[in-house]
Amino acid sequence: MAGEPIGLYYQDGTKDILIEEALRIEGIPYLRLKGLGGLVESGLRGLIIGEEADVGRWLDEVERFLNGGGALLTFKPSGGLVEVLGITDTGGSQIDGYVNIRGGEASTLTSYKGRLQIFGLSRLYRGGEVIATLTPEEDFGGVLRVRKGLGVAIAVAFDMPRTILMLQQPDSDCGKALDTWRVEDGLERIPQLDLMRRLIFGLFLKAVGIPIPRKWYFPDGSMALLLIGGDQDGCGYDEMGVVLGLMRELGAPYTLFVTPWEQPMSREQLRRLVEAGVDMGFHPNFFKDGKKVWDGDGRRAVQTAGPYFKEEEFLRQLRRGEADIGGRFLGVRTHGLRWGTVKDLPIWMERAGLQYDSTLGHKCTEGSADVVGYSLGTGLPFYFIDPEVYRRIDVIEMPMLSSDYSLFRERHRYIVRIREGHEGRFYMGLGLSEDEAFNLARDILDDATDRYHTVNCYCWHPIYLASRALGRSHHPSDRFFSKLIKYAKDRGVRLMDHGGWNRYWRARETVEIRDVDWNPEAGTLRFLASCGEAVRGLTLIVSFSCGNWVKVSEVRVDGEPHKYRRVHVLGLDHA
Ligand SMILES: [Zn+2]
Repeated sequence: MAGEPIGLYYQDGTKDILIEEALRIEGIPYLRLKGLGGLVESGLRGLIIGEEADVGRWLDEVERFLNGGGALLTFKPSGGLVEVLGITDTGGSQIDGYVNIRGGEASTLTSYKGRLQIFGLSRLYRGGEVIATLTPEEDFGGVLRVRKGLGVAIAVAFDMPRTILMLQQPDSDCGKALDTWRVEDGLERIPQLDLMRRLIFGLFLKAVGIPIPRKWYFPDGSMALLLIGGDQDGCGYDEMGVVLGLMRELGAPYTLFVTPWEQPMSREQLRRLVEAGVDMGFHPNFFKDGKKVWDGDGRRAVQTAGPYFKEEEFLRQLRRGEADIGGRFLGVRTHGLRWGTVKDLPIWMERAGLQYDSTLGHKCTEGSADVVGYSLGTGLPFYFIDPEVYRRIDVIEMPMLSSDYSLFRERHRYIVRIREGHEGRFYMGLGLSEDEAFNLARDILDDATDRYHTVNCYCWHPIYLASRALGRSHHPSDRFFSKLIKYAKDRGVRLMDHGGWNRYWRARETVEIRDVDWNPEAGTLRFLASCGEAVRGLTLIVSFSCGNWVKVSEVRVDGEPHKYRRVHVLGLDHA
């Protein structure tokens, strides 16, 4: 058997596009199918069917495929497909709630025990082996496994596409990203969507039963990534001199999100920063005519803004910023985390040819101060999806965990009045010392490295990084910065700036894995990996323990023996 081992069938323009996006993030090779005719003869080992795909006329094919030893992954199956699986749809449902990972195989695949939030309607089935349960409908499975003939089917009973959209790209009500989260209190330290993908695809790949080569998330086999940048907010060359010194001393990259509305640096100074290796992003300000006013008792800041959150203003500032740096920007973080919906800024960015955003991820609440964690349910980058027509917007979001502003500022009331009739009321500021902030970030990075394999992104403003060295009154953050970066390096965590990560993530997607040829008698796996553009340090992984296959004796690239590493990730040993 040589060819494409896994097929994906869904209809364009449906929410099932989120299944394809999830496969791409997980780096699993697949072939998009136009139909299921000839399925049994196709040589496919695994088949993924979207929830909204109409497979009525191919039910016999699907049944023969399963009976013959194929693996099937299906989302909220209904009608004839339920009968093929031999389970019963009770007709009952659960709205929102959780899927529960209680231990066993599900915990092994995700390095996690506990619940994950789900959104939308779940179906309640009887039959099959329950791998993860639903809550509150505890008697029913959220993820089921069914054996049929020689094959295995995995059935997901909840709405994964809707869950992903709800968690990772919510709208802001108040007009700033502070309320752009649906991750509930207590689950911020868990990258829930990363774990959900690994649970579902991990079970499916086991069912496929042959080793499937896939793309690892990070370059050079790194187990996690620390993403480094900060917002200029009008800082000058003195501050950037200190940042450059830290970059040199620590061997750290840095993205400066440049403020075009007030640029104290000359074009010559900005050019020197670029030459010294500072990566440049764009930091548009939509708070013109906005005010920070002190309310009532003189303690509550109320931030307002003029009606400038418009594409024309965005483009005007973009042109000005690009003239300042004498080059093009590739990414954005908005000043003050201004945000509306996925239909404004990401669409303007796409039209302007910009490739990534890093505005989202900061969670503030009315009850307590900011929470540091995965407030979008993921640390990994993802492409925005237009939720009306289910089209991929060509802009990547790089979620942020927190910023030095929030870590160090004393807790204070923060009220936002930007959109008419929508007032956001928050507490902001954790009031940590630099050592306390380091301890917190170290614990999160340890989990990211050892268990979750995801990205930790912080915003370090130059004014705070340089405050100690320049004897300024702002809270310094250079000690926190240095300690975390040294710690990350000691742990082998890869450091990148936003521009580098954007390039890598996009290039990783152009890598195709084809002609997968598994010979069980000889114990050899051959495949072809090719890429559209050069990808430095791309890492491929192959599971050690699929079916009877338990050990790797040699890895060859272009026929020559190649070094490899044995790692235990995603619940299995991999080469
Ligand atoms: Zn700013």
